[in-house]
Amino acid sequence: MEGELKDDTKIVHGAVEPCEKTGAILTPLFLSTTFTQESVAKYLHRGFSYSRTQNPTTNTLERKLALLENGFGAAAFGTGMAATTSAISATMKNGDHCVITDCSYGGTNRECREYFTPLGMEFSFVDFRDPEKVKAAMKPNTKLVFSEQPANPLLSMCDLEVISKIAHDAGAKHVCDATFATPVILRPLDHGCDMVIQSLTKFYEGHNMMTGGAVICKDEEMYAKVKHIQNMHGNIINPFAAFMIMQTTKTMALRVRHQSETAMSIATWLEAHPKVSKVFYPGLASFPQKDIADKYHRNNVHGAMLWFDIVGGSEAGTKLMNAIQRPWSLCENLGATESIITACAVMTHANMLKEDRLKVGITDGFIRVSCGIEDKEDLIKSLSIALDQC
Ligand code: PLP
Repeated sequence: MEGELKDDTKIVHGAVEPCEKTGAILTPLFLSTTFTQESVAKYLHRGFSYSRTQNPTTNTLERKLALLENGFGAAAFGTGMAATTSAISATMKNGDHCVITDCSYGGTNRECREYFTPLGMEFSFVDFRDPEKVKAAMKPNTKLVFSEQPANPLLSMCDLEVISKIAHDAGAKHVCDATFATPVILRPLDHGCDMVIQSLTKFYEGHNMMTGGAVICKDEEMYAKVKHIQNMHGNIINPFAAFMIMQTTKTMALRVRHQSETAMSIATWLEAHPKVSKVFYPGLASFPQKDIADKYHRNNVHGAMLWFDIVGGSEAGTKLMNAIQRPWSLCENLGATESIITACAVMTHANMLKEDRLKVGITDGFIRVSCGIEDKEDLIKSLSIALDQC
């Protein structure tokens, strides 16, 4: 059909054509390590040689990701952490400096401290809510500015356009991990970012089955660098996971819109509960960065993630997490059909230094919530029973 397709059509059909030979509606799963060549002279004439470099199934997922995130190209990895490692590796070397948010997924924080720092790279962990702090941390050798939006787990946000300008004025690249948002809510490449990181394990996959990650690049040069790193590191997603994530992605917008509605209802209910002292959700009028949420979140959709504190502090929070029953699950991961409660201090952010974790407000009783697609009345009923026991 002529003309630009709408987002809900793109998410289903983007990059996917029925198989030319069989008419199969889905891109086939090519489980083949290698691809035969017609002759030495015609090496790569069909586009494929070896699956660590290019695989037809994986390629289709990568083209779909680029389309949905408004990028030039994408590289898909085995996990979100492989994507993060590759984005940093593609932009920094020994002696370079990065300004990175002090509130991010714990694994990202650990990777910078325990892996890249000993290799001779330097990281300044900064509060990205204040662009002046980012500007002040820039150095002549700053090559990368690393934001996360909304940040895991505090949901803090930054003014992406202002941060992109600060990075570019200093000749650095800006990468944003937008895993919590998904392109349904936020497309950082539309706001000056050079790369977006997605843990595909979360909303893209959405069913607690597969891990995956992606770096989506705004321009060809950055894309070529990231693909080169992917080939050298050999951390490409396997074709089976690529095939599965290509299918689950089709329902991502439906899921995220539904999950966001549920999150808004739960946040509103929690805010009125006498045992709840604090609720953070970007859809609430009380959200401290509501202006930024409204500026950047598309279609007034604010996501599946929220967090809250209860009266009685860490002890009471821990009690609630121990008491919570189905349909909630106490575990790691987020963005899936199942509603999840996470004890960040011992799970997702246990690998941060304790003082850094407490400094940004991730206390031992911090309760992070990922709303699934179950009936919201059941979710609220179960929360209410658990809160009565605290
Ligand atoms: N980025 C964010 C915001 C995350 O929450 C996570 C994992 O929780 C990751 C990156 C890492 O993704 P993965 O677990 O797929 O390696």
